[in-house]
Amino acid sequence: EAKSMGTNRLRVYKSEYGEHASRRTKLLFDLKAAIANRRLSVAYQPQFKLDESGISGVEVLARWDHPEEGVIAPDVFIPLAEQHGLICDITDFIMQTAIQELTNADLLYRQVPRLSFNVSAADFNNSHGTERFLHNLAELTGDWSVIELELTETSALLNLAGVKGVLNVLRERGVQVSLDDFGTGYSSLSTLRLLPIQEVKIDQSFVRDLATNANDARLVKTIIAMANALNLRVIAEGVESQQQAHYLKQAGCDEVQGYLYAKPMNLKALQSFIKNLSS
Ligand code: C2E
Ligand code: MG
Ligand code: MG
Ligand code: MG
Repeated sequence: EAKSMGTNRLRVYKSEYGEHASRRTKLLFDLKAAIANRRLSVAYQPQFKLDESGISGVEVLARWDHPEEGVIAPDVFIPLAEQHGLICDITDFIMQTAIQELTNADLLYRQVPRLSFNVSAADFNNSHGTERFLHNLAELTGDWSVIELELTETSALLNLAGVKGVLNVLRERGVQVSLDDFGTGYSSLSTLRLLPIQEVKIDQSFVRDLATNANDARLVKTIIAMANALNLRVIAEGVESQQQAHYLKQAGCDEVQGYLYAKPMNLKALQSFIKNLSS
């Protein structure tokens, strides 16, 4: 009895594992095709200063609309791409596409004063890292300080030498650097000392329970005070309620991003969003 149960359990486990593994294999296969055929797309999420109107910046987010499975979340396909050496191709595509779209629509600089890209540890690998960024940014028609790279502490620390090498070159050309998901890594404070950053981005997990969790509220206040003391811009992500916005403002946060203000959107929607702001 016990023995047959054990065998059944094993069989169930094996087939579930098999399904899981083969789904990932298919997803990986499809992702390679999507990259090769330029079937990924970009979404834009506006950012705002808390004491002014108008857009302060826009974060670019990768999107993959799978022909059969529908929208696949970046939290699924970005780690997959990172694990299989595809992330640099995605970064190149996203940067080139967004810069081209916003340049053609004449939104960059005037309407979109800062354009932020998410980058991964592998983007900073070997001698090609610098070259690739320089190439991806070559189509910019103006000052490169319009560009910001968002990197997480975790990815920064995975490849610290590479990151520092590339960032030193890009900083000289004006590119800005933001530390994304701040507070969720292992050594936020030392990362601040190691990298040439201009902004910290408070992770949305701290923002979520701001109104109900006194500990999170104190943490957020402390991160903002620290950023202010270090002359770093501080932005909160995942802002969904007026309560959160109010708290962030009185704590001295500079900027906000979240569904309360605007969701990630395609180029057309961004154009009308900007038009509505100025009318
Ligand atoms: P992230 O860079 O921390 O981006 C913030 C995520 O929060 C985005 O999810 C955004 O859509 C979502 N978000 C924005 N406002 C709100 C809000 O008010 N409430 C909630 N609940 N969520 C909000 P998304 O687009 O699914 O991206 C997830 C993550 O995938 C990103 O986190 C980033 O780490 C990664 N990612 C996305 N695009 C790229 C890319 O082009 N390259 C790389 N390397 N990573 C990317
Ligand atoms: Mg980000
Ligand atoms: Mg983040
Ligand atoms: Mg995140």
